[in-house]
Amino acid sequence: MIDSHAHVHDAAFDADRDAVVERAHEAGVTTMVSVGCDLEDSRRAIAAAQRYGIYASVGIHPHEAKNAPDDIASAFAPLLEEDTVVAIGEAGLDFYYDHSPHDAQERVLRAQIAVARERKLPLIFHVRDAHERMREILHEELAVGMPGVVHCFTGDGVDAQAYIEEFGLYLGIGGVLTFKNVGGLRGAVKAIGTEHLLLETDCPYLAPIPMRGIRNEPAFMKYTAEALAQALGVPPSVISEITTRNAEALFRLRQISLSS
Ligand SMILES: [Zn+2]
Ligand SMILES: [Zn+2]
Repeated sequence: MIDSHAHVHDAAFDADRDAVVERAHEAGVTTMVSVGCDLEDSRRAIAAAQRYGIYASVGIHPHEAKNAPDDIASAFAPLLEEDTVVAIGEAGLDFYYDHSPHDAQERVLRAQIAVARERKLPLIFHVRDAHERMREILHEELAVGMPGVVHCFTGDGVDAQAYIEEFGLYLGIGGVLTFKNVGGLRGAVKAIGTEHLLLETDCPYLAPIPMRGIRNEPAFMKYTAEALAQALGVPPSVISEITTRNAEALFRLRQISLSS
């Protein structure tokens, strides 16, 4: 399995990061993408990727948009020289927390889409309580077929269908799928099938049941994989195989050989 969205470079893992990565491998997580949330955080993601032979992304989270530099392309440029970097993000809109003004969020999102287009890198989108506005922006900005994933997807079948059919995006499924009262999400997953799904943890956040409430880590992704297998009525091995293939295709992991 591939954890398509983790923050293993996060300070939450400073005390035991080696052990966390070791447990991930023991649990069948072959590799992961450690996702950056601002410039400094993206540098830490790259450092972790280099240390552990995993991958990183460079991005500015909508929460951090208000602190973003004016010239995002220039600020990203030196970080994108690193060969562990496989994506731009997380980039997006978060109208639930509203930690940054909407106009700042949109500016930073559009700038990152431009960088991704220029560099031919896939995008990792974070969207919360903003699916409608997100789709409007994607219609304006996205060249057809531009690769990307809406991470930690928790919307319904209508949102899912739109992201897949209109933009060809993948949807990242995390621990929320194991929670009770997520019938809408389970229905969406059933309706779209496996071909557009990725597995993720978003660790240290959003631990799946039965680990809910404690620090999440990549090894816990097996619970989400089991929930996904159950929702779709297929064996967990099928889920592992297809979501791995999807993540490899999106991030072009087979073309990028790191230490090996
Ligand atoms: Zn996110
Ligand atoms: Zn995240």
